[in-house]
Amino acid sequence: MRAVIMHAPGDVRVEEIPDASVIEPTDAVIRPAAVCVCGSDLWPYRGIEALHGPTAMGHEYVGVVEQVGAEVRDIAVGDWVVGSFVASDNTCEICQAGYQSRCVHQVMMGSVGTQSELVRIPLADGTLVKTPGVPEADLIPSLLAASDVLGTGWFAAVAAEAGPGRTVAVVGDGAVGLLGILAARELGAERIIAMSRHADRQALAREFGATDIVEERGDAGVARVKELTGGLGAHSTIEAVGTDEAMQQAIGLTRPGGHVGFVGVSHDVQIDGLGLFFSSVHLHGGPAPVRRFLPDLIDRIWRREIDPGRVFDLTLPLEEAAEAYAAMDERRATKVLLTP
Ligand SMILES: [Zn+2]
Repeated sequence: MRAVIMHAPGDVRVEEIPDASVIEPTDAVIRPAAVCVCGSDLWPYRGIEALHGPTAMGHEYVGVVEQVGAEVRDIAVGDWVVGSFVASDNTCEICQAGYQSRCVHQVMMGSVGTQSELVRIPLADGTLVKTPGVPEADLIPSLLAASDVLGTGWFAAVAAEAGPGRTVAVVGDGAVGLLGILAARELGAERIIAMSRHADRQALAREFGATDIVEERGDAGVARVKELTGGLGAHSTIEAVGTDEAMQQAIGLTRPGGHVGFVGVSHDVQIDGLGLFFSSVHLHGGPAPVRRFLPDLIDRIWRREIDPGRVFDLTLPLEEAAEAYAAMDERRATKVLLTP
């Protein structure tokens, strides 16, 4: 099968590798209808995260089940499925509490690789959620978004306790930040402040429900949000970047007693204990338990209540994966969908 392999920073190739197959009896193999490139795939692409030899890339996927292992009960060949970027049994105590991304048997799909013509899905019964039927083609990008960026933005909004009467600030205007805006709107937030400097992303932010745009960053961004909130700061803040600057900004612009939902993968974030102590904010985050939200998100997409697939602004064949990475790296695209 053809698969996207990263050899070194900036060096992405599409190569022939052995077909994905059932290894464990709880595995399934799917043929993805679409996969995509994630902002987190850019960390190794930019050399910020180390690669350990040539690496199969990707962790987002939707598609049709082609094979199932002997112990798979709930998923069958021919099912149309969406899964999270973390495979989980969905039965252990951690899963049952709603934290499937930290399942005691978790498998990060990034360690398997999904940007390929076939994908092995571990723990298929726990990981995969069936759609009500074969989706119409225009729903596929939204279902694919549910696999990670929508589910992650949704978790961030829930962790930040976005809801009626709340002012929500969103740090980061990548796909996750933009979909955090959509989630905050769906959860009933009164006011949503998007922090973005890019005109095209500001436009999509407004379409998803942002009521205010703040272009300043760092201390100036904090000051601007406080100015917009009567000097108090936001009730709920979504941090969707993962840098130290973004995290400091998120904590700084949240009012005492407020909540920060942080879902940007942390890179060199240093939190000062005394500053955190006096901030009096709640911090909750981590790899999003997307599996918790998938049934609800699939329903909302199926009923055409939300259109998170709007974050894909470029579609390319899998063979052109190198261009997909370059386009996202150079910010010519927010998120690229790949068709295997
Ligand atoms: Zn589990």
